[in-house]
Amino acid sequence: MNMNNKSPPKSIGVLTSGGDAQGMNAAVRAVVRTALHQGAAVYAIYEGYQGMVDGGERIRLQSWDDVGSILHRGGTIIGTARCAAFRERAGRLRAAHNLLRHGIDRLVIIGGDGSLTGADTFRREWPGLLAELLESGQIDEQTARAHPALMIAGLVGSIDNDMVGTDMTIGADSALHRIVEAIDAIASTAASHQRSFVVEVMGRHCGYLALMSAIAGGTDYVLIPESPPPEGWEEQMCGLLRQGRIAGRRDSIVVVAEGAQDRAGNPISCDYVRQVLQERLDEDTRVTILGHVQRGGTPSSFDRWMSTLLGFAAVQEVLSATPDSEPQLIGIRQNRIQRVPLMQCVEQTRAVAQMIGEQNYARAMELRGGSFTEMFDVFKAIAEASPSVTATTRPRRLAIIHAGGLAPGMNSAVRAAVRFGRDRGLTLLGVRGSFEGLLAGRIEELTWGDVEGWTGLGGCELGTNRHIPSVEELYAVARAIETHQIEGLLVIGGWMAYKAAYQLHCERDRYPAFKIPIICLPATIDNNLPGSELSVGADSALNAIVGALDRVKQSAMAAKRCFVVETMGRYCGYLALMSGLAGGAERVYLHEEGVTLKDLQAEVEHMVDAFHTGRRLYLTIRNERANAQYTTDFMCALFEEEGRGLFDVRRSVLGHFQQGGNPSPYDRILATRLAAHCISFLSEQLASGSADGAFIGLVEGKVTLVPLGRMSEMVDWTHFRPKEQWWLELRPVVQTMAQSIATEA
Ligand code: ADP
Repeated sequence: MNMNNKSPPKSIGVLTSGGDAQGMNAAVRAVVRTALHQGAAVYAIYEGYQGMVDGGERIRLQSWDDVGSILHRGGTIIGTARCAAFRERAGRLRAAHNLLRHGIDRLVIIGGDGSLTGADTFRREWPGLLAELLESGQIDEQTARAHPALMIAGLVGSIDNDMVGTDMTIGADSALHRIVEAIDAIASTAASHQRSFVVEVMGRHCGYLALMSAIAGGTDYVLIPESPPPEGWEEQMCGLLRQGRIAGRRDSIVVVAEGAQDRAGNPISCDYVRQVLQERLDEDTRVTILGHVQRGGTPSSFDRWMSTLLGFAAVQEVLSATPDSEPQLIGIRQNRIQRVPLMQCVEQTRAVAQMIGEQNYARAMELRGGSFTEMFDVFKAIAEASPSVTATTRPRRLAIIHAGGLAPGMNSAVRAAVRFGRDRGLTLLGVRGSFEGLLAGRIEELTWGDVEGWTGLGGCELGTNRHIPSVEELYAVARAIETHQIEGLLVIGGWMAYKAAYQLHCERDRYPAFKIPIICLPATIDNNLPGSELSVGADSALNAIVGALDRVKQSAMAAKRCFVVETMGRYCGYLALMSGLAGGAERVYLHEEGVTLKDLQAEVEHMVDAFHTGRRLYLTIRNERANAQYTTDFMCALFEEEGRGLFDVRRSVLGHFQQGGNPSPYDRILATRLAAHCISFLSEQLASGSADGAFIGLVEGKVTLVPLGRMSEMVDWTHFRPKEQWWLELRPVVQTMAQSIATEA
């Protein structure tokens, strides 16, 4: 043994296998760049396991630039395939031999449960395969000794979101985007003709896409495999659709998961649903099967940043693995990266399919997890909310008010609150024009039909602005609450909404009218509110920013160009950091970190080096308030001057573009979920005679309520942001994706 020799770099292989999914490219890019950053050699294995079995040109060493400009592309640039040969030991023997030619004994597999099972079989057989290769003289003893084990990490690439062990699979969010775009389009044509539509969505045994698109699309009925409808569902469905029509609904849409079945296990086809609607409602009914459209198109911003995090973590996993390590699935749970034993996830995933097959639906729902069941209940409550509930006693009166900047998804929240609230026998009042509207008495009752079609509507139908009551106006606010007999308040909005609610809460001893239950629902693109890891609107804004970055990047193809893009967020860097992750920025500037001249100098040097070595585009993202002196204009001038003609510099201030557009599926779902909980909170408060205040949010994936009185201790009032911000820990990932170091490994 040569004691002087440094150990050779570790070699990692990455492949995509099984069905393709949007976001796989982001994961491949992250694997390659993280590996290079860690000094490992990294190979892309083209065409899934087929490439591993074939070897040769299909296993290629990757450099930094090989995975440049792929974030926005759908599918997988390294190809995927189904490979029969890999199912046989002989195929896996060839695959092992091909990997060993490059010293690869660490693999990141991006695929579905089939691909991950194949990987695990391969791993278990590895020592036996090596022994056979050694015996037949295809490898030497040194090679066999150097690679005693295969270490693997799995990422789930599947639009179906069907894997236990991760809250989201790569591609599911983008597929949801495609489906919801289609449902929005169908809704407008259906409304024009007062038609009914039956829409079939993918998902095999999993009803995730169907359920979530039904919520986000505001449809009337959904059929999912895990929870077949009760006996006589046909009449129930027709009854709901009939009631909706009477209340003024013009489009009727039923979403059917491809694996939908009845309680006896018989498949429910779209055609059957169409027939039922046509016969019983005498309505012109059309079927749309969305098919492969759902796999296509550009990945959503979530699929880009989540897949980047997963790829980053998978490399850490395989590089730190030892021959005895249990293989892990790297997934996302409650917005955090999580490792779970791979085969445990595969087995539980198969168990769900088996439970459905055995008609053990309760267990299947249980295995899908708490939030799936919760969302199914929310959907049913909203869909089955009767348009014409008449309360027997005097209905309690709740008002809904917005404040703060516009956030896509505000309308979705109002719709859900109204439908949910009316179903509970409450009267829902909408305040038009924020607190100014309250003072001016612009308050009206909202009926079931009034909020029809609001789920996917951008903007804010009730109106919102940043004006909140001054101390002098509090008396008038109290009067307005009394005059309109408002017994509870749902405040949907951003920082100003929270501030106003907190103010009312603090002044309740002085103004008895404020002694009513008040709840705040976070809705701001800035994502700067306490008590919630995500606010409604932030995902839509991120998608808007990432879409803009794609265009900006394309426009730069003609010349060598540096772009400085400024995002909103006030003092909160969430949009800047996450769009940097999802959009592939070289550098992100946040107020939380501050900006120094030294930083700018280091960046200029890095930029100049990059352009000298052939780069054509350099992207810097800057939060609007990252630094009061080093403004976007200042940075552009500095870069231009120091670039000395080597490249152009352009600024792009995205501005209100980020607040516009229709809400993303995620924002619609989040808004609906939180609004349902808000109504429950308020009606419970009313029922028990208490008048507590709270703000609601998602904390580690769970809906959580925090007493309003705690707001002060949780926020940084000067900078309008929470003291704790979970996403700040993702900063090293941006740096890893951007720093080009020795690529010759
Ligand atoms: P997915 O990974 O999306 O579930 P498949 O089940 O089609 O898709 O699997 C993709 C590929 O993974 C297969 O074509 C095959 O090469 C490999 N594979 C799947 N299951 C196994 C298995 N049990 N043993 C070995 N290889 C497998």
